[in-house]
Amino acid sequence: MRPVMEVHEPDPKPPRRLTTRCCIVGGGPAGMMLGYLLGRAGIDTLVLEKHADFLRDFRGDTVHPSTMMVMHEVGLLPDFLKRPHQKVDRLSGEFGGAMFRIADLTRVNAPAPYIAFMPQWEFLDFMAAQGSAFPSLAIMRNTEAVDLLRSEGRVTGVVARTQDGDIHIAADLTIGCDGRHSRLRDLAGLMVEDIGAPIDVLWFRIARTGAGDPAFLHAAMGRLMVTIDRGDYWQCAYIIAKGQVDALKARGLPAFRDAVVEMVPALADHIDDVTSWDDVKLLTVTIDRLRKWSTGGLLCIGDAAHAMSPVGGVGINLAIQDAVATANILADKLRRNAVTDDDLEAVRQRRLFPATVIQAAQVQIQNRIIRRALQAELRPPTIIRLLNTMPLLQRLFGRLIGMGIRPEHVRSPSGSALPEAR
Ligand SMILES: Cc1cc2nc3c(=O)[nH]c(=O)nc-3n(C[C@H](O)[C@H](O)[C@H](O)COP(=O)(O)OP(=O)(O)OC[C@H]3O[C@@H](n4cnc5c(N)ncnc54)[C@H](O)[C@@H]3O)c2cc1C
Repeated sequence: MRPVMEVHEPDPKPPRRLTTRCCIVGGGPAGMMLGYLLGRAGIDTLVLEKHADFLRDFRGDTVHPSTMMVMHEVGLLPDFLKRPHQKVDRLSGEFGGAMFRIADLTRVNAPAPYIAFMPQWEFLDFMAAQGSAFPSLAIMRNTEAVDLLRSEGRVTGVVARTQDGDIHIAADLTIGCDGRHSRLRDLAGLMVEDIGAPIDVLWFRIARTGAGDPAFLHAAMGRLMVTIDRGDYWQCAYIIAKGQVDALKARGLPAFRDAVVEMVPALADHIDDVTSWDDVKLLTVTIDRLRKWSTGGLLCIGDAAHAMSPVGGVGINLAIQDAVATANILADKLRRNAVTDDDLEAVRQRRLFPATVIQAAQVQIQNRIIRRALQAELRPPTIIRLLNTMPLLQRLFGRLIGMGIRPEHVRSPSGSALPEAR
């Protein structure tokens, strides 16, 4: 008979404990901007980001005039614009080989009247670097919120997983900025209304040499693609009807590469950069919205409150506007530890209208333009033909894209030197 060995597992480490005034979960555009503004206001703030860095390629690149207005208001714009970016002040699209002017941002009344195409990791890295100047702000990477702490029916913080074990983070307020697959909103039982998105995106890059193609949006032969100029390469977003990825893959990679080149011949020289399906990432698109954005002790903003489709490239900017409004409404009360449930609801009331209108516009564009383009309707939709012929409409559309609806201005205090009342 084999001897039975008794194995004594070492006692699991007891979780470490931390306390903060505000715990922000998620270091995307909403979380990093909110962290920056609360740190600037001298509020004890912790941002948790589950990844080790910001170098993920699926985040979108478009920094709009509304975001740069915020940067200007906090004095960061000149340094921000030193980061690599491309300026685009007019958007055009190609429908069945003909070019159409869609939006003109040159007359937007803002310090930077254009879209800065900047890889989002640059933006997030910049915000993290600027935030590090504030003693009251800490950013913990490799730290994933996995559960909520609760007391008497209220959220009192989170349990976070790190490589060194779990941490219990007690917070007077927890803010979910954890994006469209938000775990916090699920854990809190906040109800999600699915608005629906009939598309998904295939995301890949192709080296760029030479002058390149001026169009941003390409529609031809039942296909639709966006090309984003990232300097030495094109970031390509090939739009497909939801659920069609397997059928597309079944037709083979050469057929996919041919389809891309047929639509944008300028990509022909480097289309072989796409060597396998591993080079092509499927990004699933969602549009949804929370009925309530908060429950006692917890607030959700950004995509966690209203997941945005890539249409119009506005999601990042809307998330940042949410962050500015949240800081405006809550910073002073957070400092005095006097945030009420009504204050959390005030954030939703402030931001619901812009989120709803922009999501409704995205649904219209998805259904009226994108779906039709994917059904091989070569004739550009009426709205595109109207935009092309009416410069005033192009400017209005440019303003809508650039500044959004109900643009926010920074009113949260700049008081990192002030002692915080606890
Ligand atoms: C295919 C696609 C392309 C897009 N392109 C654009 C575009 O070009 N321009 C644009 O403006 N918008 C674009 N959008 C929309 C845009 O990406 C979102 O609206 C925007 O990123 C929302 O910002 P956020 O900070 O709310 O969330 P996110 O950007 O999703 O950030 C959430 C962060 O939370 C972290 N996180 C998640 N869970 C946890 C956890 N449990 N603990 C700790 N950290 C966590 C994540 O790692 C992430 O860093 C696109 C969307 C899609 C789907």
